[in-house]
Amino acid sequence: MKRSVLSAALGLALAAGLATLPATTAVAAPAAQAAPAIQGYIPAAYAGSAAETANNRAFFQAVVASVKAKRAANPWLQTVTVTYDTANAPSFTSQIASAAQIWNGSVRNVRLQETGGNGDFSYYEGSDSQGSYASTDGHGHGYVFLDYQQNQEYDSVRVTTHETGHVLGLPDHYSGPCSELMSGGGPGPSCTNPYPDANERSQVDYLWANGLAAVN
Ligand SMILES: [Zn+2]
Repeated sequence: MKRSVLSAALGLALAAGLATLPATTAVAAPAAQAAPAIQGYIPAAYAGSAAETANNRAFFQAVVASVKAKRAANPWLQTVTVTYDTANAPSFTSQIASAAQIWNGSVRNVRLQETGGNGDFSYYEGSDSQGSYASTDGHGHGYVFLDYQQNQEYDSVRVTTHETGHVLGLPDHYSGPCSELMSGGGPGPSCTNPYPDANERSQVDYLWANGLAAVN
């Protein structure tokens, strides 16, 4: 009886053409259905605040997982260093260097460092109607996407430093003032402040003090 049910199911699958799908497609399907964690520079019209809240920490967790794996392989490491690669964002090397310099000068529990290989996260550039954002690739690897048009309309160093703030674990706070980095595009294009405020600096140091403890 069970056999005939399976046969019937297989027959349906064949009829639907599912059996002709390559194995890789079948494996990739579940990941494609999972909602990616995206945190942008301006409020996204397509995503409700509840969805953004639910995904708030996924990107940060992906980066922490990458650091954790690296520390497991190199347990003598004394500090939390998060590496990044810029090969896919050649137009933004100056802004990315500024973002790393600003963050490294603002916090003490985590350090950003460029690598020529595959980093704990990657920068990408291109054109996207969503603008710039931080997200995961669905396989636990975090990346920052920098949108050409948005980086012309808004201060590019602020955009890049803001998105890098997501790497370090900060959520968006669009209603905040220009003095906050994570208010992003909320204060409008005239806001060019690329520095995190004292509260944002404290939040990052708090998160990475715990992150360091978590991976020890
Ligand atoms: Zn953001």
